[in-house]
Amino acid sequence: MNGTAIVVGGGIAGLTTAASLLQTGWRVTVVEQAPTFAPVGAGILVQGNALAVLDALDLSGRIRAAGLQLSSMAVADARGRTLSSPGDERAAELWRQTFAIHRADLVDALLSACAVADLQLGARVASVDPDRVTLQDGRILQADLVVGADGIGSVVRGDAARSRYAGYTCWRAVTPNVGGWTEAMELWGRGQRVGIVPLTEGRVYSFWVDDAPEGTDADPLGTTTAELQARFAGFDGPAGVLRDGLPADARIHHADLRELDRVVMRIGAIPLVGDAAHGMTPNLGQGAAQGIEDGMALATCLAEHDAVLPAIDAYEARRLARTRAVWARSRMFGRVGQWRHPLACWIRDGLTRLTPASTMTRQLDALLAPGQQIAERFRALD
Ligand SMILES: Cc1cc2nc3c(=O)[nH]c(=O)nc-3n(C[C@H](O)[C@H](O)[C@H](O)COP(=O)(O)OP(=O)(O)OC[C@H]3O[C@@H](n4cnc5c(N)ncnc54)[C@H](O)[C@@H]3O)c2cc1C
Repeated sequence: MNGTAIVVGGGIAGLTTAASLLQTGWRVTVVEQAPTFAPVGAGILVQGNALAVLDALDLSGRIRAAGLQLSSMAVADARGRTLSSPGDERAAELWRQTFAIHRADLVDALLSACAVADLQLGARVASVDPDRVTLQDGRILQADLVVGADGIGSVVRGDAARSRYAGYTCWRAVTPNVGGWTEAMELWGRGQRVGIVPLTEGRVYSFWVDDAPEGTDADPLGTTTAELQARFAGFDGPAGVLRDGLPADARIHHADLRELDRVVMRIGAIPLVGDAAHGMTPNLGQGAAQGIEDGMALATCLAEHDAVLPAIDAYEARRLARTRAVWARSRMFGRVGQWRHPLACWIRDGLTRLTPASTMTRQLDALLAPGQQIAERFRALD
């Protein structure tokens, strides 16, 4: 089926949903509260499952052009000694499907696929029904389908799941690539982690994660370079090089990391996509990728059914177990990554070093393969 759709929220998940619905014949309105489609200025990993979906939307060329292709994501200790890295050719092949990209470039690519959508900016949704949304300014918009893509604090989802603090907080920046890094890595300290992700044009995206009480740094742009350097003084190796090379005037974004306490793929006849459904910690770099999968899976289910409700039943059946598994694994990965006790960290680092490469490759394969399947099913609709 197709018809008219309103997508509430113009983030990565909402725009992918809009693009996928447009390609299957829907007329789409995107309602976004912000005055522009300007994401927080930092990088993001587009992993192979997301890339497969973007490829089916004819967008992978733009991602490849604007992003930096990786071939590994190493994990190292705070001194930079490698704990794990892709150990075989299959793992390298899977990692080569990952592109590190500035978020603005990803959003631009998605917007290019939404050119014929009705994009309503500065429009905040106050409430929704399955066939209509009410904006805060009193306007009412009607459609055959309403999709909730309004992020972790979703108005559409309401109390069906609650957002909670993950227990650790994060700073992000895009700065000059002072180490000349060409591969991504994550460095584990005690209760702290640092991520280094090279971008194009001599830039590097970094994330700095620390155990801290919720609300530690209330101003999202208030952290200075000196404060960040002092907080992460314990790192040597690549993280130390990056820390010491941060420009004094670096634009550092801070946010407490949050997740939903459960995964909810629908509210009755209203499907949810992205963080609205499964807001997860960023430890696997999969939050947006899952939202990208959602958008295409939803459009496919709708195209395969004659009515909205059976399509949403199918969507929930296809997405619930998948997103729940990624959400749970991301949480577990973060908990272990944030361990602080020296003995626990020593055991963690040792076990990571001992994990066979074949196990890591199998896990990565399982994580990425569903994106390929979603893209194939979407292509088969033609
Ligand atoms: C530090 C960090 C690193 C990450 N790294 C990665 C990574 O490498 N790879 C990856 O795949 N994911 C990553 N993620 C996760 C990813 O950023 C999110 O999962 C993704 O951006 C969520 O997209 P979304 O569209 O679902 O939600 P959002 O980006 O939150 O978009 C929701 C949109 O809805 C709008 N909205 C909200 N309420 C209303 C309303 N009432 N009316 C109208 N509009 C509304 C908002 O303004 C917003 O534009 C990371 C997250 C963090 C915090």
